[in-house]
Amino acid sequence: MRNSAKTLRSAAELIGAGLSPERDRAALDAVAARYAVAISPALAKMIDAADPHDPIARQFVPDAAELNTTAEELADPIGDDAHSPVPGIVHRYRDRVLLKLVHVCPVYCRYCFRREMVGPNGRGTLTAKEIEVALDYIRAHEEIWEVILTGGEPLLLSPRRLRGVMKALAEIRHVKIVRVHSRTPVVAPERVTGELVRALKASSKAVYVVAHINHAKEMSDAVRDACARIVDAGVPMLSQSVLLRGVNDDAAALEGLLRTLVECRIKPYYLHHGDLAPGTSHLRTSLDEGQQLMRGLRGKLSGIAQPTYVLDIPGGAGKVPVGPAYLRKSEDETYCVEDPAGQSHVYPPRA
Ligand code: SF4
Repeated sequence: MRNSAKTLRSAAELIGAGLSPERDRAALDAVAARYAVAISPALAKMIDAADPHDPIARQFVPDAAELNTTAEELADPIGDDAHSPVPGIVHRYRDRVLLKLVHVCPVYCRYCFRREMVGPNGRGTLTAKEIEVALDYIRAHEEIWEVILTGGEPLLLSPRRLRGVMKALAEIRHVKIVRVHSRTPVVAPERVTGELVRALKASSKAVYVVAHINHAKEMSDAVRDACARIVDAGVPMLSQSVLLRGVNDDAAALEGLLRTLVECRIKPYYLHHGDLAPGTSHLRTSLDEGQQLMRGLRGKLSGIAQPTYVLDIPGGAGKVPVGPAYLRKSEDETYCVEDPAGQSHVYPPRA
């Protein structure tokens, strides 16, 4: 049953596939009426339905806890709308913009920070006219050095349409970098075809693919092969992960994820603190827990396996590192620096 080739989108389909119990039907119907649900065939195959702590199920199988919205949660937690001059563009930082072409995804992560915008009832795909307006905005702003294709899932565009966007960006001289934020290599690795990879390279700019991966169990052989096709084509890969309660909030799971990424030639880039998205409090950790995990990684893991632990400040003020601090300045201007084992050392001020 679970090897269905169909994406699972409703409580009935999840129950039929053995991923949710019958007793949860009413609650899951309510969740699915509120937030989009989708589990791709590739992901469904990776879930161990007999394991109540399966880290993939926890990321994608809806939970009745999503019906609980807390007072601090926000419909637009990172403030995209406040920085959107035209549809599809978010211009939060001077030298870069997000270009959100598509507001649907092959899967819907239960902690998604854009869950009020994405999905079948979300903001859809930009029309050809809207894409042209968004590109005109980029053309008119010479300070834009980097364009980040995100969404939704940008790699749901056909290779032909993706090539069209990449070629349009190729003609904008001040754009030097195109970054693609994607879940596709992990959740639908079969979509990473030679044609798609060639389309990614059609901009003649420096292109980076940033894959969203949260647990080593997501790195199946098919996923590793899909990532290798991207890297072998000369497109560097980075990762971004979200710190999630019950998925990767223990030292062993986090270490396993980060080592696996580097072994697959994917540089761990960001570990995001969970955003204040509605109905996600059961998946968020505290900042103290995040800092403690990051402290545990220092000295234990190679530097190339260390991500930056970041918080997107609610409301759109931007993203900042929130990892543990190792350096303090004393009143006498000397520094006190902590080593990876927690021992303090004095470092002299500049003479
Ligand atoms: S792939 Fe990204 S945009 Fe889509 S549901 Fe997951 S977190 Fe949200």
